[in-house]
Amino acid sequence: MSTRDPHPYPREKTFPALPPAPARGFARTWWGHAWLSALEDSALDGEQVRQGRRFARAGAVGAVTVRPGGLTAVVRDRDGTAHRTDVLVQEFTAGQWDRLLGLAAGESGYIAALLDREVPPELAEDAAAAGADPLPGIGDLDPRCDCGEWDHCPHTAALCYQVARLLDQDPFVLLLLRGRGERELLGELEERSSAEAEAPQGAADEGVPAAEAFAAGAVLPPLPALPGLPQGPGQPPALDTGAEADGLDVDAVEFLAQAAASEAYRQLARALAPGHADRAPAAPLTAAEDAVRLTAEAGDVRLRARLSAAAGRGRAEMERAVLAWGFGGAPALAALEDDWTPDRSALARARAALAAAWADEEAPVLRRVRARWTEADTGRQLRLGREGRWWPYRREAGSWIPAGPSAPDPASALAADPG
Ligand SMILES: [Zn+2]
Repeated sequence: MSTRDPHPYPREKTFPALPPAPARGFARTWWGHAWLSALEDSALDGEQVRQGRRFARAGAVGAVTVRPGGLTAVVRDRDGTAHRTDVLVQEFTAGQWDRLLGLAAGESGYIAALLDREVPPELAEDAAAAGADPLPGIGDLDPRCDCGEWDHCPHTAALCYQVARLLDQDPFVLLLLRGRGERELLGELEERSSAEAEAPQGAADEGVPAAEAFAAGAVLPPLPALPGLPQGPGQPPALDTGAEADGLDVDAVEFLAQAAASEAYRQLARALAPGHADRAPAAPLTAAEDAVRLTAEAGDVRLRARLSAAAGRGRAEMERAVLAWGFGGAPALAALEDDWTPDRSALARARAALAAAWADEEAPVLRRVRARWTEADTGRQLRLGREGRWWPYRREAGSWIPAGPSAPDPASALAADPG
């Protein structure tokens, strides 16, 4: 008997928004058609369905999250108003899964077809006869939308059309809706079909002689190459599914999930870049640094204001911090905020660097206070970081503003700011 966890596999999948699809049929496969019939034949108002198809064509449906029992997406009206839209589908009972898996494991061609992203019509027919039809029938697509419509509205219809496109590519979406993810399903099918194959000969398993196994090793295909860097960070699921979670700040959690995905993508890109093994790992960020990183990531003005308030920074102060962050992350933020005093040897190195930076007649007249050298008549400043790099600053409206990325020598740093 299997003793694994009840949910060792992912049971939720998010598909990124698809580009607009002008003048395109939405289902190319027979099961995609069956899915759409369930919508088109059960909606009371054909106009709502037609409008939904236009919405889906125009690219109004955002990322689609699929999980057992339902689909969720944000669908936008022509004027940009966003609607949280759900379509609920009945999950299979344990008995229904048992019948469907029994049928699928019974024919060797069925599993191969599913792996090829094909649904054999005979399998679906047998499953329907056994009361375990994964395809929805009339009335099985149960719409929920925050626009207030009680039947299918253009938003739920648009979501159904979009999902028909997904189903064409990947019929496992349908099975996930019924309660099982792809890996979980294939694992169960494998168990069943190997149990059936063994049954006639009894349970005796004599194994394979070592020499035979060793010889077989030479004919095995090579291991597949490591996957490359994906096109971009993945999209987090839409969390506001209508099921109210007490005290959960959905906007904040969605933003943090997206920010975590972006950061994971950046780290992966760094790890896959050539020469990675030779570089020292970056130090972990402090809470204050991380707040600036997140604010730099937040496009939304309200989110930025909330993050600034939570980090205990005024808005203008946070804007300067975000500007610095963009020029070089944590060391750039330190150059903005860390007003340190170099010790004797650091100061000697800095003076040598300044003396070597310009020919005598071109050298700017700089006055030092701690680790900051200011050119009084132009309002420009050079800051020496503890890491030994030079950061350009500029005086604007009474504040010192980061003016560019750092450089290893003072002349290049000052040249980065055209003034
Ligand atoms: Zn709606």
